[in-house]
Amino acid sequence: MGRKPTHASLILKNGKVATLSKQRPTAEAIAILGDRILRVGSNSEVNTLIGDKTRVIDLKGKTVLPGLIDAHVHIADFGRTLSWINLRRAKSIEDIKTIIKIYAAGKPKERWIIGYGWDESRLIDKRPPRARDLDEASPENPTILYHHIGRKCVVNTKALKIANITAKTEQPPDGEIEKDPESSEPTGVLHGNATDLVWRKIPQPSEDEIIEHLELALRKVLEYGITTVHWIAPSLTELNAIKKLVEKRLYMPRIRIIMPANYISEITHVIPPTSSLDSDIKLTGAIVFVDGALAARKAALTEPYNNGTTSGQLLYTEEEINRFMHEICRSKLQPVMHAMGDKAMEIVLETLEKFAHEIRQNNLRPRIEQPAVTRPELIRRMKDFNVSASIQPLCIITEFKVWSAMENLGPRRARWLYPLKTLIFNDVNVCGGSDAPMEPINPFTQIKAAVTRQYYFEERVTLEEAFRMYTVNAAYAVGEENLLGTIEEGKLADLIVVSTNPLEVTPESLDNIKVEMTMVGGRIVYSEEEARNLY
Ligand SMILES: [Zn+2]
Repeated sequence: MGRKPTHASLILKNGKVATLSKQRPTAEAIAILGDRILRVGSNSEVNTLIGDKTRVIDLKGKTVLPGLIDAHVHIADFGRTLSWINLRRAKSIEDIKTIIKIYAAGKPKERWIIGYGWDESRLIDKRPPRARDLDEASPENPTILYHHIGRKCVVNTKALKIANITAKTEQPPDGEIEKDPESSEPTGVLHGNATDLVWRKIPQPSEDEIIEHLELALRKVLEYGITTVHWIAPSLTELNAIKKLVEKRLYMPRIRIIMPANYISEITHVIPPTSSLDSDIKLTGAIVFVDGALAARKAALTEPYNNGTTSGQLLYTEEEINRFMHEICRSKLQPVMHAMGDKAMEIVLETLEKFAHEIRQNNLRPRIEQPAVTRPELIRRMKDFNVSASIQPLCIITEFKVWSAMENLGPRRARWLYPLKTLIFNDVNVCGGSDAPMEPINPFTQIKAAVTRQYYFEERVTLEEAFRMYTVNAAYAVGEENLLGTIEEGKLADLIVVSTNPLEVTPESLDNIKVEMTMVGGRIVYSEEEARNLY
């Protein structure tokens, strides 16, 4: 008498499975039992696991990939932008007015209306909308509509009043309040830092609004085939909101929380680091913002930026960084250091050297977020201390194209700006992410950017390397390489079905790939077919 065979709960067959595992890179079928992968192989190998209760899905030749991992995303902020009115399709100022009018109808008077995406070059009017246009659509609600590239907006009269912007208001540094040449009255159009005068007046979202934003963000994440997010620096209110979503039993990706190191004790009170809020939600790391943003010239460099005297700045003293590191190691969290400039990276690596013993003893995985201005010597040290580099490929393009890295850093330093290929060649674990809402969340757009970058071609990576950044490497960065990142027996059944095999298209069309199904732990949490029936 033989032992009763184990039957799969779910089988996916007749597919092209790109497993990203070294032992078996491709397969036809996957058998799943509960939340785990039971077998990966040919159709006939998996057929033997079909029992009476097994659900079988015929993939009809479609491609399956491991679920994608976004290693750097700001979930609540991303959700907040999703709640804004999208004006990209508006073809005229009249269109914009109609959209706003419909949206404002029935809203309480004090409620702000926020929109984005207009572009005067695409409007038949060939001019930006002005305050008086918006006043016709939403006279009672303060309204702010961002231009599609961000640092420019139009606001209505109500918002101008709240921000106290009048004919007499002085122009802010690096910004402009557009004024009527005859009356000197503000037109409502604001540029650069002037946009902050109004932004600062918008009240912070309430807990209910945050819950709404999180729901929007998490749904969108699953639509894009992201099955795990590394959520950077949530606030305590946001964490409490997540607890409420868990109670609602919403479909969610796995959430790995990287909290700000300055309030470890407060957060570990909400979620203890050793246990987890829910098996799918874990506290994994603590982040220290060692320096500021490169584009704002706040990343700490060893030599000044071109055309100026500033070298950026460290946000903490070495002593303070040491204190943080001590606290992080003591809590057995991963040290996550935001360090964009080479000076900041130097300090981080020195600190990691000092704490090498604690890090090794607790098996921690240090990482540097957005290591932008590197040097070959720093890359070698990253390898030596097993430091992961967390990089968002579209940020690379933005630094070169929008910020003009070449001018601001000069070619000698720009050469080592996010050197993806060199990092990978030197065995540094590079994990990929979006930095949404700063950059688009779509992983395929990010992967395309890494594969096709137009600046320093030699730093382009292969498609497989780019997918690894978004899967195995990201899993490794939080110590989950045995659970996630590839399609292998025993691992969690996190996978996606895509419309086209990314390995069979030209890199330029990578961002046309649609996710048709997303599965987290053997459960279908998004299916395009269902979404199509719903909307
Ligand atoms: Zn970020």
